[in-house]
Amino acid sequence: MKKKITYSKVLGVKNLTESTYIISLERGDFNFKAGQYLVLKVTGENKAREYSIYSPEDSPAIDLLIKEVDNGEVSKELKYMPIGTNVELTGPFGFFVLREDKNGLNNHYTFIATGTGISPFHSIILSNPDLNYEIIHGVRNGYEAYDSSDYQEDNYHLCTSREQSGNFHGRVTQYLTEKGIRKDSIYYICGNSAMVNEVTDLLEQNGIKPENIRTEIFF
Ligand SMILES: Cc1cc2nc3c(=O)[nH]c(=O)nc-3n(C[C@H](O)[C@H](O)[C@H](O)COP(=O)(O)OP(=O)(O)OC[C@H]3O[C@@H](n4cnc5c(N)ncnc54)[C@H](O)[C@@H]3O)c2cc1C
Repeated sequence: MKKKITYSKVLGVKNLTESTYIISLERGDFNFKAGQYLVLKVTGENKAREYSIYSPEDSPAIDLLIKEVDNGEVSKELKYMPIGTNVELTGPFGFFVLREDKNGLNNHYTFIATGTGISPFHSIILSNPDLNYEIIHGVRNGYEAYDSSDYQEDNYHLCTSREQSGNFHGRVTQYLTEKGIRKDSIYYICGNSAMVNEVTDLLEQNGIKPENIRTEIFF
């Protein structure tokens, strides 16, 4: 079935770091489930890119958390989009949403992300305030702990690979290996393909069943 296009406008861009920003878009009648993504296209241009939705389900605007990629076309352009620029949103897409099973919201969830891969988890957690979760967030430097105050402090584990300012110095795989892998959790992994594949292998080697692992690959 062809997905509907929602005609939207840029409401603003907020820089979180030198290279990472939140772009806010008019929501119109765009509906989604927390964890899903959309395809964004600037009206009149022919380049479209996928972005996970950062804002919660009940938010009046659609926020996206975007990292400006070196030599990237769209991520660089969106950072400087004037307020009022016309854009087109297609979607929502994807199945990276909370599992609807007999336990539903009573499950324990472990969300593992690198960089802007935290975006779908931000939406899921803000949409479900009573969720039983922890986040393991891998970044290079501590200043990339985007909006970490939006999470319960004890449940947010920042792994910094370049310096020691996070809760843990090292990569997410090292964190899991050292801290242990909880067997009764449902695992969601989001970020670059190398990390997602490495973490999936590690979890499976530690007895986590494939049906309790969900993944979303950004690039
Ligand atoms: C389902 C899905 C959801 C996504 N959600 C997000 C999101 O929430 N936030 C976000 O920032 N990006 C997200 N992306 C990536 C996004 O679609 C673009 O690929 C990214 O913005 C780069 O586009 P560009 O036009 O600037 O670069 P391009 O000109 O398309 O690509 C330049 C190069 O950068 C690489 N690249 C892409 N993303 C990154 C990255 N984050 N870090 C380093 N290198 C990268 C590409 O593989 C390519 O080699 C998502 C991708 C998918 C498939």
